[in-house]
Amino acid sequence: VKERGRGDFRFYQSQMNVGLLSRMKIDHAMREALEEQRFRLFYQPQIDLYSGRLVGAEALVRWTDPSLGVMAPSDFISIAEETGFIVTLGGWVLREAIRQGELWQIQGIDLTMSVNVSAAQFHQLNFVESLAQWLTASRLPASRLELELTESILIQNVDETLIRLDALVDLGVRLAIDDFGTGYSSLAYLKRFPIHKLKIDRSFVQDIPDDESDAAISTAIINLAHSLNLKVIAEGVENDIQRRFLLDAGCDEFQGYLCSPPVDPDSFVQLVGALGLS
Ligand code: C2E
Ligand code: CA
Ligand code: CA
Ligand code: CA
Repeated sequence: VKERGRGDFRFYQSQMNVGLLSRMKIDHAMREALEEQRFRLFYQPQIDLYSGRLVGAEALVRWTDPSLGVMAPSDFISIAEETGFIVTLGGWVLREAIRQGELWQIQGIDLTMSVNVSAAQFHQLNFVESLAQWLTASRLPASRLELELTESILIQNVDETLIRLDALVDLGVRLAIDDFGTGYSSLAYLKRFPIHKLKIDRSFVQDIPDDESDAAISTAIINLAHSLNLKVIAEGVENDIQRRFLLDAGCDEFQGYLCSPPVDPDSFVQLVGALGLS
């Protein structure tokens, strides 16, 4: 038993080292990729459900590494969050999305640019100051920038968070709660925090209208949002049945493969031509 225990321990230890090694390797590769400008932003259209016209774009980071291949955000974002690199990467994402949004404004493409913000990034001491500087230097109106915040951001350090959200609203920036309903939802913070929009998570949208609970939850989020004077957008809409259901339930906007996956900026401009702007 003793011997087997030792063997198990050695096995466990080497597994841990492999995990640690690949995390360090990926962290190193991410830092190199940023220096060598290998990160890209793709953009997914956000559509007004009533008019069918384009109202916004969500910026989503993309990374193809020459030796590691295509890296999914779901894999590298969590590592970047653990190592702290997300602060640097998230700063780049914000500046790049602002730059693209400004360029499109100049070209007459007036849309809201939505950007995902991680907890570590949001809670950085100089987060609001840096954003204010980038916006001042840009011709993108602050009202055309929307930050997608998760519920987990909002429940950390509530008093400090409230001050920060107020400062962001003073800049003119819009605030959305991403993946709404999947985190530690507290209805109290909806009352307390200056939020503009709720984003219904894909997990609730996926099986509507067949799954009655998901249909009920989606409808409840839409009604909750509207009774608090918030806008509501559904993500992960893949078919017309889902779109119809959300339209009938009074949802304001949607995004998903039904319209388009996230695409590079050139393809996005072609979509604008096809869809028109609201
Ligand atoms: P998210 O913010 O919930 O983004 C939505 C994800 O769903 C995106 O995956 C998008 O490509 C995908 N999606 C969009 N429409 C559909 C659809 O109709 N069906 C299906 N099955 N999927 C759809 P992606 O780009 O792989 O990003 C995954 C997650 O990684 C994001 O989830 C977000 O949490 C994070 N992420 C991506 N880019 C950034 C970033 O720049 N900063 C931060 N902090 N997080 C990011
Ligand atoms: Ca998002
Ligand atoms: Ca400005
Ligand atoms: Ca989501």
